[in-house]
Amino acid sequence: MSASQTPPATAVPGDDVPTLLVKIFGKDRPGITAGLFDTLAAYSVDVVDIEQVVTRGRIVLCALVTTPTGSASNGATEGDLRATVHSWADSLHLQAEIISGTGDNRPRGIGRSHVTVLGHPLTAESTSAIAAAITATGGNIDRIFRLAKYPVTAVEFAVSGTPTDTLRTALATEAAVLGVDIAVSASGLQRRAQRLVVMDVDSTLIQDEVIELFAAHAGCEQEVAEVTARAMRGELDFEQSLHARVELLAGLDASVVEQVRKEVRLTPGARTLVRTLKRLGYQVGVVSGGFTQVTDALQDELGLDFASANTLEIVDGKLTGKVTGDIVDRAGKARLLRSFAQQAGVPLAQTVAIGDGANDLDMLNTAGLGVAFNAKPVVREAAHTAVNVPFLDTVLYLLGITREEVEAADTMAD
Ligand SMILES: [Mg+2]
Repeated sequence: MSASQTPPATAVPGDDVPTLLVKIFGKDRPGITAGLFDTLAAYSVDVVDIEQVVTRGRIVLCALVTTPTGSASNGATEGDLRATVHSWADSLHLQAEIISGTGDNRPRGIGRSHVTVLGHPLTAESTSAIAAAITATGGNIDRIFRLAKYPVTAVEFAVSGTPTDTLRTALATEAAVLGVDIAVSASGLQRRAQRLVVMDVDSTLIQDEVIELFAAHAGCEQEVAEVTARAMRGELDFEQSLHARVELLAGLDASVVEQVRKEVRLTPGARTLVRTLKRLGYQVGVVSGGFTQVTDALQDELGLDFASANTLEIVDGKLTGKVTGDIVDRAGKARLLRSFAQQAGVPLAQTVAIGDGANDLDMLNTAGLGVAFNAKPVVREAAHTAVNVPFLDTVLYLLGITREEVEAADTMAD
């Protein structure tokens, strides 16, 4: 660089440089931002920072600018600027406040996290308790904004000054007490780069347990439920209970498969979740301790990139009561997550797993973010985060995707 090519002056002032915080509040209408900066332009000030929010038609516009030095061609001073801004604000029935100080914003503390809160509804009491819990960890709330108003109220707190793990532990306790869902994730590019989502099927992607739908057709619901209960009590492992339950389906006509496919009910928000993730370039898969006879149909219907499950053996048009091939169990689900991630070219740290059952736990803990979805307490406690509202699309908010972005993507695709 030659001496004549001096770098452009930076707008970031040193700590001792005088700055003015200009705050405008009032009824929002088009042209306020342009009007304020047009007013400030006459004083040749530099813009250091701008924040603007509009809540129920009211605007709060904050501008941090350098203080006029009186060296502008018109010799204008800080006093002149104050008078002009107030007169402009008065003419629009806005309130203006101008606060003198020095330097830029206080730097944000080390250790930055996003705290996503899902309330159904979100009460003032919960909000107070969450904010107090954040403060008690030594964290500072830098920003708060709403991610969604539907189907739950979702807000995100940007917090700095405390390690993400400390915050997660403190807020997990608070969430359980308050009955709201709180997810804490580390800030940074990693969060924007989660690129593979793998879901359990029964009671996660769909509302049903597929084996129970088959059992209803075979008239052995009671027997299947007894085996399930024994597995829950730890008397049988997943593979034993799978074989015991499938055995009860022996002799069932293969036409039942088609009926069961029709009976499967997607979880509310499932289509929105998958559609939005796909539009954002994510890859999406399912792993199930259930059956390919159902997951293959779901893969086609939803356009999933990956699907793996157990396969019911069918011979001469009848279920044999056996499954073929490798069994997808608790360890198998985690193995499949790794395999999908490898095929997708996505590091494990950038994967998200969602599930409700004990056999999802290894998968949830293998993923970069494990989400327990309306899960049993044992699963909820072991997962990174829990969602306890019955809407699968709320997982989008945990990834920092707003309802507005979801709806905008839908509109563009129409
Ligand atoms: Mg499940």
